[in-house]
Amino acid sequence: MQKRIYLCLAHMSGEEQKFIQEAFDTNWVVPLGPNVNGFEADLEAFVGEGKSVVALSAGTAAVHLALVACGVQAGDEVICQSFTFCASANPIKYLGATPIFVDSEPDTWNMSPDLLAEAIEERIAKTGRKPKAIIPVYLYGMPAKMDEIMAVADRYDIPVIEDAAEGFGSRFDGQVCGTFGRYGVLSFNGNKMITTSGGGALICPDVQSKQEVMFYATQAREAYPYYQHEHIGYNYRMSNICASIGRGQMTVAEAHIAHHKHICALYKELLADVEGVTLHENPSPRYDSNYWLCTILLDPSLRVQGEESAYAEQVEGAVGGAAGVTHCAASLRTDCEPNSNVEAMRIALDRAGIEARPLWKPMHRQPVYADSPAYVNGVSEWLFARGLCLPSGPCVSDEDVRYIVENLKSAILK
Ligand SMILES: *Cc1c(COP(=O)(O)O)cnc(C)c1O
Repeated sequence: MQKRIYLCLAHMSGEEQKFIQEAFDTNWVVPLGPNVNGFEADLEAFVGEGKSVVALSAGTAAVHLALVACGVQAGDEVICQSFTFCASANPIKYLGATPIFVDSEPDTWNMSPDLLAEAIEERIAKTGRKPKAIIPVYLYGMPAKMDEIMAVADRYDIPVIEDAAEGFGSRFDGQVCGTFGRYGVLSFNGNKMITTSGGGALICPDVQSKQEVMFYATQAREAYPYYQHEHIGYNYRMSNICASIGRGQMTVAEAHIAHHKHICALYKELLADVEGVTLHENPSPRYDSNYWLCTILLDPSLRVQGEESAYAEQVEGAVGGAAGVTHCAASLRTDCEPNSNVEAMRIALDRAGIEARPLWKPMHRQPVYADSPAYVNGVSEWLFARGLCLPSGPCVSDEDVRYIVENLKSAILK
């Protein structure tokens, strides 16, 4: 059977089982416990800056609780980077608020500080109220222009929630991503930089806000001998078993990040002479991406084998879906999709056992967000039309990268 090379698979250190055993031995098989506290302490040491961290059941839950902590309510507006995974924006809708999407700039592919300022000005002019929060994202691990984004946010006194789900351990000007704004979101899903099988965390400014977030993460129980509820809470705390895996993963976090950077450097070397294929890299030494996923852009002039029939067949087991339980697509095509040469390259790599994936489709082009206001400059759509993510995880070897680049080259028509 052909070997398959995935984008980013979880990789265990071996320490996880020791922590899990300890959880069982001490009978802490609940959504709190010594390993949850230990994992939070590990994360606090890792991110630094005197921050407090709450471990949660998912990164999406962290976004949701950060919005709650920023006081977001039904009818409010929240600014969100358009070029992202839906989990950055969906919790805005959970609260009955309206996402205002802001496009990217071409250096980092993340939120454009100029468009952000424009969006804030226009929202204030239109609604008479400021947006309640700003959610920039560290796409594929690349730091956003945090100095400029923070300057705009501070000018209007709007809290920033950094979605660092993909940017675990990335740095901007030497500072860990997720520690610039009021809140920072981390994810430990199975395909992220480190995993707890499923899980996330919220980086909080201080112990007091950590306690507030924890209150909402555990069903908002007031301090009475009986159950007294004065707010709507959530069941979002991380389980002690998941935290056990997290503690084991923390022992290899730096090694994982170093490996992703090494894989990116190898792609750079091997792709250097491939015309029409551009690897996305740190725009300057101020940026230190963890290269969670290495990404390339294909020039539209690049001819790829099979591109004339690129969208001819229904995709089986659509990307991200569990086997056999995917939604059936309504049609083969949509009015916003990657170029044919990109889809042909994805198929060619897939046939060689290599998982490649288009970039995130911008939220302002998603049918579910068709009614949300958007401030766009064309950058994210331009990138979406050209980009592919390549295997980059801890299970990808140097030999795999050579095999991937070989197959990529042989799919290009001379
Ligand atoms: C993965 C991800 C999330 C959500 O994290 P989960 O732990 O899967 O809920 C949020 N934002 C971005 C950008 C992500 O990639």
